[in-house]
Amino acid sequence: MSKKFFSVINPNTNIAICQLDYMGHEEASQAINAAEREFSSWKSLPPQARADIIETWYNLLKQHRQELAEIVSKESGKPVKEALGEVDYANSFVKYYSQEILRLFGDSSPHYRKDQWFMNIAEPIGVVGAITPWNFPAAMITKKIAPALAAGCPVVLKPSEETPLTAIKIHELALEAGVPREIFGIIYGDAKEIGRALVESPKVKMISFTGSVGVGKYLMEKSASTVKKLVLELGGNAPCVVMKDADLNLAAERIAVGKFRNAGQACTSPNRIFVHETILEKFIESLINEISDNKYEIGPLINQAAKDKTDKIVEESISNGAKILFRCKVPKNQKSKTYFAPLILGNLNDDMRIIKEEVFSPIFSILSFKDNEELIKRANNTEYGLAAYLFSADLKSTLKIANSINFGVIGINETMVGNDQTIHGGFNNSGLGREGGKPGLMEYYENKFIIF
Ligand code: ADP
Repeated sequence: MSKKFFSVINPNTNIAICQLDYMGHEEASQAINAAEREFSSWKSLPPQARADIIETWYNLLKQHRQELAEIVSKESGKPVKEALGEVDYANSFVKYYSQEILRLFGDSSPHYRKDQWFMNIAEPIGVVGAITPWNFPAAMITKKIAPALAAGCPVVLKPSEETPLTAIKIHELALEAGVPREIFGIIYGDAKEIGRALVESPKVKMISFTGSVGVGKYLMEKSASTVKKLVLELGGNAPCVVMKDADLNLAAERIAVGKFRNAGQACTSPNRIFVHETILEKFIESLINEISDNKYEIGPLINQAAKDKTDKIVEESISNGAKILFRCKVPKNQKSKTYFAPLILGNLNDDMRIIKEEVFSPIFSILSFKDNEELIKRANNTEYGLAAYLFSADLKSTLKIANSINFGVIGINETMVGNDQTIHGGFNNSGLGREGGKPGLMEYYENKFIIF
């Protein structure tokens, strides 16, 4: 007999919160068919009407802020305070796109013949499959669904099975706001089968995916048969550079804030911390000062597999010569089996797995460098290209480095780089296309040229 239910686990207690229906290909196909059937009525609404519904959705999300944060915390493990920050961030996309949709203009131009005109128009692309991960269970959803709905596209959402409850609440509020059920479908359970229904259906015109490189490449390959548009956000291995003239306390503080975001389980997390060799010891001292009093509250890792993977990579690094420079204490009230006490590791080199791979845990991996030319080569020496961070007091030389590294999002003296108004996305294996801002909205359109 096929599986009927699956459990959602609270990483803080390692206990199941509830059981949900295990849906698959059939349910996904039904959602796709319904979405396609209603596409023309949703896209024909005046933008103002869709904007009103999305604004109502935003108001409901704001009213349920606390409840949403508690759900996020329960199923993802992040502390409620941090989850509140994520919910505000998630809601900001809904507000932004309810407004941005009213500011779209096309363009037209005179033809070389006096009696003819050229016109470029943007039309909603059609049914969108949105597949989201567990690390930001609210924000990864709204940054896809809000622009898609605003543009006039129906969406079938497949949230992560680790964190479907936030998605269910966000979906419920969208329907309450007036989004038709057919226009926003939600399906979870058998990821492979739901994914297969989405990529194989010619009715689905676009996939917006955030997750691993492996699944992203698989979706891309499978989308080839129907030539679907893809927006992919596939992770990163962010270099974080501390130049010799950097304000070390500021760098230590911002790097700690960046690293502790979701306990290091973010694709933008500073992964390879390159410190100029002349300030290496001073910087390590500043970083230890910054994190030693446990003022940063972090949650456990998402599950046992993540904990085992992290333990293994640390063990492997140590057996290859890495040194633990500092380790935070486990807070007394922390009982989760998947909690990982933050760690500063030194004596590393670029060939170690911990430097080559995205670590997704609260480990500060410290490397040193001598000069900018060497630094640029080493920073670019990765298959990824999502976020990078540069700490320096000299803006001009920092901008030169920013122009020479292959990353889609660069923070100078800052590690909080995500917001509703600006673009987010990566180079190379970090993905395709952009989310956020106006470009994030325009991804959900197909362009048409008319001559008349
Ligand atoms: P992570 O390792 O961060 O969980 P994944 O890429 O495995 O990253 O998961 C991101 C999202 O992709 C989740 O919603 C997951 O269920 C979904 N997913 C995983 N495998 C597939 C697949 N074969 N087809 C479609 N979606 C998938």
